[in-house]
This record gives sequence, structure tokens and C-alpha cells, in this order.
Amino acid sequence: MKCALVTGGSRGIGRAICVTMAGMGYYVLVNYKNNTTEADKTLDLIKQNGGTGELLPCDVSDKHQITEILGKWIEANTEKYIEVLVNNAGIKDDSLLLYMQDAQWENVMKNNLDSFFYITRLVLNGMLLKKYGRIINIVSLSGLKGLPGQTNYSAAKAGVIGATKALAQEVARHGITVNAIAPGLIKTDMTEGMDENEMKKLIPARRFGLPEEVAHAVGFLASQQAGYITAEVLSINGGMYS
Ligand code: NDP
Repeated sequence: MKCALVTGGSRGIGRAICVTMAGMGYYVLVNYKNNTTEADKTLDLIKQNGGTGELLPCDVSDKHQITEILGKWIEANTEKYIEVLVNNAGIKDDSLLLYMQDAQWENVMKNNLDSFFYITRLVLNGMLLKKYGRIINIVSLSGLKGLPGQTNYSAAKAGVIGATKALAQEVARHGITVNAIAPGLIKTDMTEGMDENEMKKLIPARRFGLPEEVAHAVGFLASQQAGYITAEVLSINGGMYS
């Protein structure tokens, strides 16, 4: 059975990606940290769209949990193979660098950058054996342009962009593509509380994006037909930056 693992699938962009993956016929592994109520809603949406899947709660900022939970899941489910990995879970914790606490730097690195390494290393083996796979990393405009107040987040997302390009070259000959998607401002809990009316003046499209608009691009990069696209970073930002 072919699976898609979506980290941070309980809400926002991750939820929309889970629904898209289900629509493509994948058994969806919905990872999240602790919001089981929202994760259940994602699983309901998957089922409403004729798909199947299961919840896989695991704190992706904790390498021990990744080995314990995801590693054991892979060992126990030899008939299931993770063909698509979407590294989507992420957090921000903004502050000017001068006032940034150690914990703010370290948590943002662990959640956004370290999680990419520990999860991808575990999942890659199966893809190499099958000689097929799609890895899609959700990064950010912040990782391309750098945004003041987000040195931690910009650095973590830029790190994932570098890793995307490097890994893509390591595995291309094995039928595995590795790409990144860099959203601008998307309507989710992460952007809740921002002054949308003010912020949208900075966006040529004059609106925030929707999670489904990011998920659509994930579906494209995850498709078989996108097999010659690798090491790319696709911006989805309403024309804000390129
Ligand atoms: P949300 O805050 O809406 O949702 C975050 C999701 O990630 C939740 O499912 C949450 O799980 C999960 N998550 C957070 N930390 C962990 C963890 N340690 N382990 C497992 N799961 C975790 O975020 P968005 O949907 O807005 O963002 C998704 C991705 O897109 C992120 O990587 C973000 O950086 C990126 N992005 C978002 C933009 C935006 O404008 N929204 C712009 C650019 C990039 P739980 O429900 O259990 O808390």
C-alpha cells in the first residue's frame, strides 16, 4: 500500500495537503504534535473524500520520538511504503535578534530544520529500495528573502532549502525527487492575528493565499508526471517576492 506522510497534518496547510494526498489515492499518515481534536477532523475530511489513513502523533522536534514512533511504525508496517513525504510541520517564534532567547533560536531550529533531517533519513531508505519517491519540504518566503524579526525562522527555512538542493542531487538517479515550496502569507492559525487589511497592501495579488492553493502545488510535485522536476523551490506568494 502506498502512503503519504504529512507532518503537521492536523491543521492549516498540512490539513489541505492531507486531503489532496487522499484524493490522489494515497493512504495518508497524518502527523501532528498534540491537537488530536483537529487531527481527527483532518482524518474525517480524508474519509469524506473517499480516502483512508491514520493518525501518527509525534513531536517532530524530538529526534528520540521520531525514532520511537515513526521508526517503529515503518518496522511494523512492511506492507506499507511511504512514497510521498511532505515535511510541513513548522513553528515560528519571532523576535529581533538582539532580544532573542536561546530557546527561541533552538526551538525554531529543531522544529523546522532538524525535523527535516531526522524524518527524511528514516523515510528515505524505503524510497531507495523501491527506486521511487517524492519529498516535498514546506519552507517560506522568509527563507528566501530573510525577514526582520525572523532570523531564527529565516535561517531554519533557508537551511531546509539548501538541504533540499543537496539531497535532490544525491538521490535523483534513484527516481526520487526533492523539492521545496515557499509560501508567502497563507490564511492559517500561523497568520491569525496579523492585520490582513494592512498586510495585503504589500501583496500584488491583494489577498492572503489559501492552504488549498499550497496543497495543489504539493499534489503537482508529488505526481508521477513531475519526475523530472527536482531541487526546485516553488514560490506561492501572490507575487510578493521572486
Ligand atoms: P499552523 O500553525 O496552522 O499548523 C501547524 C501544524 O504543524 C499543526 O498541524 C501542528 O500540530 C504541527 N506541528 C507544529 N509543531 C509540531 C511538532 N513539533 N511536531 C509535529 N507537528 C507539529 O501552520 P501552517 O499550516 O500555517 O504552516 C505549515 C507550514 O508552512 C510550516 O512549516 C510553516 O512554517 C510554513 N509556512 C506557513 C506560512 C503561512 O503564512 N501560514 C507561510 C510560509 C510558510 P498540532 O495541531 O498538534 O499543534
